Amino acid sequence: MITEQAAGPGVTTDRSTMRAVVFEQFGGPLVLREVPVPTCPSDGVVVRVDATGVCRSDWHGWQGHDDGITLPHVPGHELAGTVAQVGPGVLRWRVGDAVTVPFVCACGACAACLAGEGQVCERQTQPGFTQAGSFAEFVALDHGDVNLVRLPAGMSAVTAASLGCRFATAYRAVTVHARPRAGDWVAVHGCGGVGLSAVMIAVAGGARVVAVDVAAAAREAATAFGAEVALDPAGCGSGTPEEVAAAVRAATGGGAHASIDALGLPATAIASVLGLRRRGRHVQVGLLLGPAARAGLPMDRVVGWELELYGSHGMAAHEYPAMLARIAAGELRPELLVGRVIGLAEAPAALAAMGERSESAGMTVVAL
Ligand SMILES: [Zn+2]
Ligand SMILES: [Zn+2]
Repeated sequence: MITEQAAGPGVTTDRSTMRAVVFEQFGGPLVLREVPVPTCPSDGVVVRVDATGVCRSDWHGWQGHDDGITLPHVPGHELAGTVAQVGPGVLRWRVGDAVTVPFVCACGACAACLAGEGQVCERQTQPGFTQAGSFAEFVALDHGDVNLVRLPAGMSAVTAASLGCRFATAYRAVTVHARPRAGDWVAVHGCGGVGLSAVMIAVAGGARVVAVDVAAAAREAATAFGAEVALDPAGCGSGTPEEVAAAVRAATGGGAHASIDALGLPATAIASVLGLRRRGRHVQVGLLLGPAARAGLPMDRVVGWELELYGSHGMAAHEYPAMLARIAAGELRPELLVGRVIGLAEAPAALAAMGERSESAGMTVVAL
């Protein structure tokens, strides 16, 4: 049960159910229906969801590629909202605070967390995967004091939704793993939400970017965000990973210094690795799940050219202030990455479409 302010000061209403998008079977129908409001964890919060992004990870979860999901399930993990209920163990947060949260909710106490690496927490929970997610009016979040991130004044929930997953993931992938110096070449394979974020962040850091995507709208968006070169795999010979990589190496004077697979297919991962110059850094951001989990990467090239391979898995809450400061300064503009804003009733169709090639650029965000 949650008590919510309804029609003006002092008027509240008790809610025991809420609207949510639910699936009962992997790959089965996605249905908008009434479900119980989640229970508030003792050291967590319940957030009223104001906006939630539609991400390819949600599509993987729906398809059954994530073994942490139990059925029936509410997807959704990149959210911004307003704290509606606070557990007794939470010290730093109050009802009414505007927040977002990394898609990995860290425990704050394991060895990874104590080392500052909450994004790979040993006891992590993930709304939309290990528990009910944010394609709903309310979502429960664990360990509020560890994970909540206060939204800057004036930032809309629609803009903030991507900060919990795609934008923050791209930020860490570029600044921690790819770490280009000014003038270095960064290749970005796959220019959906996370890829376009990576283009914007790399360009803001002074890197030169070559963007690769099969969709013309995505290539145009990447160019608008500062990519110097935009490659269509279909225009690289017969479009094999080797031919795409050769085009990247030709465009970058011998290979990118760093390369990000923002899509997560064996072909894009291989093209990303082969498009590097010697001692280059490959960053795997797109999820390789299900049949793609054991993609065969060219490890002969990794050894012979001393390439570095990184996985990137979101960003811990304590790393957000540096990113938010660059957003506040106008250096990074996540609001430009929002392509389409829809209602919760349209979320099922938008989620199902994440498995197909998109004809429009940017992120789809559900506003509640
Ligand atoms: Zn996501
Ligand atoms: Zn932990």
